[in-house]
Amino acid sequence: MESRIETGACFCGAIAAEMQGDPFWICFDHDDDCRRAIGSPLTIWIGYRLDQFRLTRGQPREFSKTRGIVRSFCEKCGTSIAYRDEGLNDELYVTIGFFDHPERFRPQAHAYWRLRLPCLEFSDDLPRIDTYSRRRDPAFGNPVDR
Ligand SMILES: [Zn+2]
Repeated sequence: MESRIETGACFCGAIAAEMQGDPFWICFDHDDDCRRAIGSPLTIWIGYRLDQFRLTRGQPREFSKTRGIVRSFCEKCGTSIAYRDEGLNDELYVTIGFFDHPERFRPQAHAYWRLRLPCLEFSDDLPRIDTYSRRRDPAFGNPVDR
């Protein structure tokens, strides 16, 4: 059987990538840092291992405000692309807006539920987690404490 391949691109098309295989984790994220960085009330992160992600066009710019956390984006059009965190080893989170077929992904949980905007209502029965939905390496602490 062929391995699953998902493709994605930024708004202007300068950056494109291919993701191979199934993501290991998909979650809604209500975190305020991500909200500001992405400019959206919430996002859905699609989590892959680093070797599942391959750029097929262009090179994203990177930005880090919090130690150990790197966000990537297209320098031409500003599209947010991905998030890496040294406390989450070998995990790369790609924004759902980057994908050519975002309808194929089903979130498995809500992360940072306590930070969600009051105007957002959800009728799903997914787990609601008040902090990170992933197990972090305690050696790196939490981003809010850095
Ligand atoms: Zn672009």
